[in-house]
Amino acid sequence: MVAGWFTGEGEDFRLVGTRCSACRSVFFPREDAFCRNPGCTGGDIIELSLSKRGRIWSYTDTRYRPPSPYVTNPELPWRPYALIAVELEAERIVVLGQAVPGVAVADLAVGMEAEVVPGVLHEDAETTWTTWHWRPTGVTG
Ligand SMILES: [Zn+2]
Repeated sequence: MVAGWFTGEGEDFRLVGTRCSACRSVFFPREDAFCRNPGCTGGDIIELSLSKRGRIWSYTDTRYRPPSPYVTNPELPWRPYALIAVELEAERIVVLGQAVPGVAVADLAVGMEAEVVPGVLHEDAETTWTTWHWRPTGVTG
């Protein structure tokens, strides 16, 4: 599940990854057991909050129900959404995420700035599960 993948609320919302103290590689989704860099002899794995903003590296239209950890209700009609890959310059990683609702691939371009915002993954009568969405900073709504 997505617990531990992000922290904070509103403006303070950030994705949470981990970084190897030896080679400084950053991992998202977080890697807690060992450094995945094959050229690294291994170091301590430290949790860190990732940059809030990055640049759109790629995007696609998703017409299928997503795999775990996304929760979908098979009773409901599936709505296609834009899936965005955003490059975080400081961390030198690319993070995939859904675009905020209302943003379609026609609104997107490679190189556009996007910021991470909290989004609703799934909700029922008692609980709302939060995920992250990418919001192009030049697009409102
Ligand atoms: Zn390492």
